[in-house]
Amino acid sequence: MKAAVLCDFDGTAVLQNVSVAILERFAQGDWQAYDRAWEQGTVRPEEVSPRQFALVKASCEEIEAYARSQAELRPGFREMAAFCQRRLIPLVIVTSGLTFYVKAALEQAGLGSLPVSGDGADFAQQSIVVVPGPRLAGCPNGGACKCATLQHYRDRGYTVAFVGDGSRDFCVSRKADILFARRKLRDYAEAQGLEYSTYDDFFQVMRRLEEWLDTEGREAPLPTQRPSQGL
Ligand SMILES: [Mg+2]
Ligand SMILES: [Zn+2]
Repeated sequence: MKAAVLCDFDGTAVLQNVSVAILERFAQGDWQAYDRAWEQGTVRPEEVSPRQFALVKASCEEIEAYARSQAELRPGFREMAAFCQRRLIPLVIVTSGLTFYVKAALEQAGLGSLPVSGDGADFAQQSIVVVPGPRLAGCPNGGACKCATLQHYRDRGYTVAFVGDGSRDFCVSRKADILFARRKLRDYAEAQGLEYSTYDDFFQVMRRLEEWLDTEGREAPLPTQRPSQGL
């Protein structure tokens, strides 16, 4: 069996929500209004991040430096990255934030080689223009859709684990073959009756993943066509 692990960044791979910290530090205006509007369904999800980052007045370098100063890896993440490398398991960071500061934070932690999937940023204007990353058509999340990355691996025959914590992880969590959830995502999984494991650190994720790989590896590979779970 081929397995891939997709891992959220803010509040998951790192303890902090770096995207929120950046908005709090550099946004000029009420960036939280767009989060509220998203929760109330009065703004299209794909508009939230572009509108919020349009309020940010800072250079790429300033934001990268701030991200480096804020981010702290969740315990076990480094070991988890090494574990995935040993077992030839792709480990991909999937973020609903912007990839440039996620990469800066990971580089500082010596994990600059990890692939990061999410939206890009263009600094040519007065404020940041969000450059859309991969999207899965029809996904209710709209914005930087983690489902597109999941689908990319599934199309190539991988079974996919997802590790996350927040509301932007809801849609992808329904599609994952194995789900690791904490915080809001755990509440969601519980309410939706999804199967999941919870975690405080990546040592727990690694142990569960290892069990899963050993069990699944002995059985026939999962069919590529799974019953549709809907959205
Ligand atoms: Mg998160
Ligand atoms: Zn999605």
